[in-house]
Amino acid sequence: MAIELLGKSTEELRALAASWGEPAYRGDQIYHALYSERLFDFARMTNLPAALREKLSAEGRITMPRIARRYHSADGSVRYLLALESDATLPALARVQVEAVFMPDTKEDARRQTICISTQAGCAVDCHFCLTAVLGLNRNLTAGEIVGQVLVALDDQREHLLPQTNVVLMGQGEPLLNFDAVMAAVRILLDPRGVGLAPRHVTLSTSGIVPGIERLAKETVRPKLAVSLNASNDEQRDAIMPINRKYPLAVLLDACRNFPLGPREFITFEYVLLGGFNDAPEDARRVAKLLANIPSKVNLIPWNPGDLPYKRPTQKSIDAFKQILLDKGVFAFVRISRGQDIMAACGQLALIESKGIEAKEGEILRSAQNDTL
Ligand code: SF4
Repeated sequence: MAIELLGKSTEELRALAASWGEPAYRGDQIYHALYSERLFDFARMTNLPAALREKLSAEGRITMPRIARRYHSADGSVRYLLALESDATLPALARVQVEAVFMPDTKEDARRQTICISTQAGCAVDCHFCLTAVLGLNRNLTAGEIVGQVLVALDDQREHLLPQTNVVLMGQGEPLLNFDAVMAAVRILLDPRGVGLAPRHVTLSTSGIVPGIERLAKETVRPKLAVSLNASNDEQRDAIMPINRKYPLAVLLDACRNFPLGPREFITFEYVLLGGFNDAPEDARRVAKLLANIPSKVNLIPWNPGDLPYKRPTQKSIDAFKQILLDKGVFAFVRISRGQDIMAACGQLALIESKGIEAKEGEILRSAQNDTL
């Protein structure tokens, strides 16, 4: 069986080259060609000797995620439905599909794009405001499938790339429940000889898996940490995030307090504002108290009504919530999720596909035109 190269570290590729009787540095060259130059065809790796390219073609393979569908948003973002198994003979429902989103900066002096990627197919964490939860967990993604989502988006958008790339691990899945594969992918993303992203430009978002946060804290090269908070007390958080019963707020915030941060670093707390549920002024005051002594930034994400039974918060409650946090010295920003017209919430595309609904691009765009915040 052919050896899968996508997701292999430089050490693994050096060992592979040595096992074939080649100098180990040939492994470094393959690594650089694959992740830095984005050459996914051995024939194009012309810095390798012809005999090695032939050997690679015969015994190795690079299985990039296949773009099953592209959805273009009016705001410039592109949402990809990616098929992660090349075996097209599998029945549609058995194939693993995940989502990645490419979001170019829309400001006039645009300098960067952000790519949101998935770490699992489906998710077992069961946050009640999340459509991925409805899918349940299908399986963990491999390191190659995780890093491959970034590579495929960069390659697909190569004509439009801006100088800086940010990556957020906020798509389908709980990254800290697939720790080894996620960190293997993150190391390739952050390696200057690999994809070459700066650690401050890669953010891992967790629902609050405390042992995973503690493990991440011990890594030498770490992405930035984001925590999906979404509630101002345990009772509220239990109601929408069952994971809180296992790792309640006090335990979670302790782990955050102990997370090593540099002088200008902070932890991002995401807070989906659900109208009438967690968007009252007293919630904002409690959030400010919870985050005292943690260098933090709060991203307020107004709920965008969809298939789930929550209400959009009013503009007045959004503004008041933000102002209370600012008054109490907590950095707070309102974030509108990108690509709302192309099914913004994680898991929405996969859910549509798994239901076998024909989600044609034009239909999605039309149906969303009345649904902008
Ligand atoms: S919000 Fe994230 S952790 Fe929670 S169910 Fe959805 S994908 Fe899983």
